Amino acid sequence: MTKTADRDAYADIRESVRALCARFPGEYWRDLDRERAYPTAFVNALTEAGYLAALIPEEFGGSGLTVSAAAAIMEEVHATGCNGAACHAQMYTMGTILRHGSPAQKQAYLPGIASGELRLQAFGVTEPTSGTDTLSLRTTARRDGDAYVINGQKIWTSRAEHSDLMLLLARTTPKEQAVKRTDGLSVFLVDMRLAQGAGITINPIRTMMNHATTEVFFDDLRVPAANLIGEEGKGFRYILSGMNTERILIASECIGDAKWFIEKATAYAKSRELFGRPIGQNQGVQFPIARAYAQMRAAELMVHEAARKYEAGGDIGAEANMAKLLAADASWAAADMCVQTHGGFGFAEEYDIERKFRETRLYQVAPISTNLILSYLAEHVLGLPRSY
Ligand SMILES: Cc1cc2nc3c(=O)[nH]c(=O)nc-3n(C[C@H](O)[C@H](O)[C@H](O)COP(=O)(O)OP(=O)(O)OC[C@H]3O[C@@H](n4cnc5c(N)ncnc54)[C@H](O)[C@@H]3O)c2cc1C
Repeated sequence: MTKTADRDAYADIRESVRALCARFPGEYWRDLDRERAYPTAFVNALTEAGYLAALIPEEFGGSGLTVSAAAAIMEEVHATGCNGAACHAQMYTMGTILRHGSPAQKQAYLPGIASGELRLQAFGVTEPTSGTDTLSLRTTARRDGDAYVINGQKIWTSRAEHSDLMLLLARTTPKEQAVKRTDGLSVFLVDMRLAQGAGITINPIRTMMNHATTEVFFDDLRVPAANLIGEEGKGFRYILSGMNTERILIASECIGDAKWFIEKATAYAKSRELFGRPIGQNQGVQFPIARAYAQMRAAELMVHEAARKYEAGGDIGAEANMAKLLAADASWAAADMCVQTHGGFGFAEEYDIERKFRETRLYQVAPISTNLILSYLAEHVLGLPRSY
C-alpha cells in the first residue's frame, strides 16, 4: 500500500473497502474487459455493503457520510485495481434530487436509491452535435398536458442499460427565447423501465476500455410532468451544482489509480533483476517513480482541500476543478511511468497495467476535459477574458 500522511483518515472505511475489493482480483476485471461486460457482482457487493449510499442522508436510508468519506471509498476501490466507473454515478447523481427535488420526489426515490433497489446512474447531458457546449444541446422537452414529450439524442450516456432511472437535461425554451443565456434547460427523471420500447432506444458504444457507455435516442417519449426536477428552465444550474461532487469523487478515483500504478512499479523495480541488480537501483528507473509519487501527493492534497471546503460550504468551483485536473494528470503520468518501468510486460494483459492505463486515460476527457477546466480557471479565477 502506498504510504501517505493521511493514511489514518477514514482508516476503517478504507480497510473494509479493501477487504471487499480483494474478492474481485485482476482476473475478474480482465475477463469482463475482454467481453466488455458489466461488473454486476462487484456493483452488487458495493451496494449491499452500503457504500454507494454513502452520500444519502440517514433519513432516506443512506449512511449520511461526508464527501471526504465517499472520496476515500472510491479512492480505495481504484487503489486496489478495481474500477468504480460502473457505479460511481449511483453515489452522486441523486444529489440533484436531494438538492432540488420536491419532498415528494425525495421520498419517492431516495430510499430506493439508497437500498440499491433503484439504480439512478445514467446521466444524459452530452449530445453528439453540441458536445462540451451544453447550452447548445438540441434534445427538447415539450409540455403536453400532464406530460413532457422528449425528442432528441444523447451520446456517451454511460450505464444506461444498467439503470432504472436517468437524469436527463433537455431544452424546454428555445435558446433564442431564453431570458438568460443559461435559462431554458430543464432536468427530468426518466423512468427507463417504462420508457424502453415506448420512446427510448439505447445502443451500446464499444470504447477502448470497458465502460458500458451508450447512445440514447428519444422519439416522442412521454415523461410525466411530476418528473420535472425543480423549476422548468433552471436545469443547467441544477446540473452544474452537482458537478463539484462528481469532480471530487472522480479525482479520488484518479488518486487511487495513481497509487496502484506507483505500488506496482515500485514492487516490480525492486524485484526485476538485470545486469546483476534490481532495475530500481538505477536512478533512470527510480526517478520517474519518485516523480509520479510527488505528483500524486500534491494532487491528493488538492482533492482533500476541495473536500474540506465542500464540507465547510461555499463555492468550491476552483478547487473541485483543480482537484480533477491535477489528479487526472497524476494518474495518467503514473500510468505511463508504470508501463515504462515494466518494459514489455507493461503491455501484457495478465499484468493489468495496460487495462488500468486505458481506464485512467478517460479522465483527461470525461466528465470534463482538461481544456475546459483550464478555461474555467483562466476566466473565473484569473479574470482573463472569456474565450467562448
Ligand atoms: C467513456 C465516456 C463516458 C462518458 N459518460 C458520460 C455520461 O454518462 N453522461 C454524459 O452526459 N456525458 C458523458 N461523457 C461525455 C463527456 O463528458 C464528454 O466526452 C466530454 O465532456 C467532452 O465532450 P465531447 O466529447 O463532446 O468533446 P468536444 O466538446 O467535441 O471537444 C473536443 C475537444 O475540443 C476541446 N474543446 C472544446 N471546446 C473548447 C474550447 N472552447 N476551448 C478549448 N478546447 C475546447 C475539448 O477539450 C476536447 O478535447 C462520457 C464520455 C466518454 C468518452
